[in-house]
Amino acid sequence: MNSRLVTIKKFSSPWEADLAKTHLEACGINAFIIDSQTISVNWLFANAIGGIKLQVYEEHATEAKEILSNVAVEVEELNREEKIICPECESEKVTQINWERRWSLVSILFLGFPVFYPRNRYQCQHCGNKWKERSGRAVKTD
Ligand SMILES: [Zn+2]
Repeated sequence: MNSRLVTIKKFSSPWEADLAKTHLEACGINAFIIDSQTISVNWLFANAIGGIKLQVYEEHATEAKEILSNVAVEVEELNREEKIICPECESEKVTQINWERRWSLVSILFLGFPVFYPRNRYQCQHCGNKWKERSGRAVKTD
């Protein structure tokens, strides 16, 4: 039996690597994270040493890659379901304006309570429509 470890995927953040490792182990594949400690200490090392490596035994490599590619698809589909579309033209090219949330965080830091109520604002890149989300409903602004 060949028990050489091979790198099947690289990650830039430790939590992504942990998630993938947990998923593989749930499928009965032993997985090992290499270089995670170094990157946790200084994330600038991440590029220098080629990211956090997820390794499995060579005989599991093909299966493990397949499992992880299925996970990637699941994540993608989840994002698609939550995609915000413009209520005017139904374009998906929407940017989120979070300045109110940012200000409320700043005021929490300095005053101990939020000055602005955190609320999401959106702007459509296609038609320029601006709106905010209130109790799951789109409310038009200016
Ligand atoms: Zn629009």
